Amino acid sequence: MEKCRAAGRCGGCRYQGVPYEEQLAIKQKNMEKLLGGFGPVLPILGMKEPEGYRCKVHHALARGPKGSIISGSYEEDSHKVVASAECALEDRRCREIIAAAVRLAEDFKIQVYDEDRGTGLLRHILIRKGRFSGQIMVVLVTSSPVFPSRNNYVKVLLRACPDITTVVQNVNGRKTGMVLGERSQVLYGPGYIKDSLMGLSFRISASSFYQVNPVQAEALYRIAIDLAALTGRETVLDAYCGTGTIGLSAASKAARVIGVELSSSTVKDAIANAKDNGIKNARFYKDDASRFIRSMAEKGERADVVILDPPRSGSTEEFIRSAAKLSPSRIVYVSCSPDTLARDLKSFVKNGYEVRIIRPIDMFPFTDHIETVCCLYHQKKDFISVPYEPKNVE
Ligand code: SAH
Repeated sequence: MEKCRAAGRCGGCRYQGVPYEEQLAIKQKNMEKLLGGFGPVLPILGMKEPEGYRCKVHHALARGPKGSIISGSYEEDSHKVVASAECALEDRRCREIIAAAVRLAEDFKIQVYDEDRGTGLLRHILIRKGRFSGQIMVVLVTSSPVFPSRNNYVKVLLRACPDITTVVQNVNGRKTGMVLGERSQVLYGPGYIKDSLMGLSFRISASSFYQVNPVQAEALYRIAIDLAALTGRETVLDAYCGTGTIGLSAASKAARVIGVELSSSTVKDAIANAKDNGIKNARFYKDDASRFIRSMAEKGERADVVILDPPRSGSTEEFIRSAAKLSPSRIVYVSCSPDTLARDLKSFVKNGYEVRIIRPIDMFPFTDHIETVCCLYHQKKDFISVPYEPKNVE
């Protein structure tokens, strides 16, 4: 990877100039230090091509010193925009479209939002690209619903980039670090993109969660489902299920799948995804995962396998205690934050589970983030030994 001009300022890459093999070795060592006490840590799963993997690219906008619009990511721990037009982690086409949208914003004299003063219109541009489908969504995040010459702007943008399949305006008028506000309006196309993963088709709306690195996401899901060791008879609870990607991929191997997700737009996508793929044994609920699983435990409902994939803050004591009451034979924990994972594993162990498999996955090369899949077994139940052979690169 060529040295990036934003290196050291942009909050993204931590491992600029570090050979990829070395990055993997560092991450492996860190994970062994943090999680080794629970059991052996299998070799981290790296990428064959560890660049250009980000299929969700978000740029904040600001006025540069010369008065022109700059777009990029924020400086670490600040809201100062660092121009990152050449970021090697972002999908090239996503970057090209952002550059075109910014050029057009200049042509149309669109005011860029100024965070300190709270003035201006255009705040962020977010692109989502279906890695396997090629479908492209542009989300224009504005501070107000009133967007002068909007129709013309979109028309010219579509002419310049005919591969865009949908355009959405999202309104975020709040002084907040969150990129998206609550209201979205579809300006062109269906308002979502579709991508295929695990042989299924998934629709993803502007504010739904979707892994930024679909190549590694597929590898991750495959491992998670292998570890669930399904026989076709199980009830699987997919907690923090997002658009249903893991649960729906497991549905053909299970008796039924129950998914729970807090975000309403995301759970709507999950329900549509089940329907679009003709999957009839999966149900999705909009709820807090902890509250939902507690109520399952109170009602004496059944779950043979629990899969959980919480946000960085991890799961909760309430979730873990209730999961233990349901007493599934296997729990598959997918984590994007090793620290909260370590905290939660401790709690699962206290509640009668044993950590059997720990597999880090390099979902974000060149950054210091690490994704992990763990498999836990109920200490008192017979377990099916999982024939699991780790590969180094998917
Ligand atoms: N497994 C999915 C999503 C994982 S990301 C995938 O791989 O795509 C975590 C998801 O948890 C997000 O969709 C987020 O909206 C959801 N979430 C966050 N807090 C939650 C809570 N308290 N209860 C249920 N879902 C929650």
